[in-house]
Amino acid sequence: MVETSYLIALGSNRRHGRHGAPAKVVQAAIGTLGDLGTVERVSRIRTTPALGPAGRAFANAAVRLRTDLDPEELLDALKAIEREYGRRPGRRWGARVLDLDIILWSEGARGGPGLIVPHPEYRNRRFVLDPLADIAPDWVDPLTGATVRQSLYRLGRLAPVDRALRRS
Ligand code: ATP
Ligand code: CA
Ligand code: CA
Repeated sequence: MVETSYLIALGSNRRHGRHGAPAKVVQAAIGTLGDLGTVERVSRIRTTPALGPAGRAFANAAVRLRTDLDPEELLDALKAIEREYGRRPGRRWGARVLDLDIILWSEGARGGPGLIVPHPEYRNRRFVLDPLADIAPDWVDPLTGATVRQSLYRLGRLAPVDRALRRS
């Protein structure tokens, strides 16, 4: 397959034995994504400190990856990297060392079952849109026609940030 581009979101809310805090996990994972193709753009890594003793620190970022992998192949490769970083299957929405989601693809949309692109929730998530805006503010969503910048603006007008909902 010819090379195409993807926007991938990275998140961590759990320490890694060797890499350390979530921001370090995300930093290391960005390097690992280079094994899959060319990492052309990298956002800032945003962190949220743990609030209170039971709170969790979060780190989020996004990259633009150019690769010859098709979407299914890429998803499989991302899941393999998640496992490599010690993520256990299941535990959706729970604590995880690393979460890698395909958010947007240069070739448009694809429906389920299985892989869904654009990621169905990204438009509602500031922790995804903020990093995307660093690297691809003018990327157009094939389903809504809105750019990343416009989706972010729209989210800001629709709902206040709910810190409790923030996750990877
Ligand atoms: P969310 O998808 O709401 O961010 P999550 O990332 O915590 O939740 P996971 O447990 O990581 O959810 O993934 C659940 C399943 O979603 C994966 O097994 C994967 O096959 C599927 N999936 C569908 N579309 C995508 C996508 N665009 N990117 C990554 N995974 C996807
Ligand atoms: Ca995921
Ligand atoms: Ca996710």
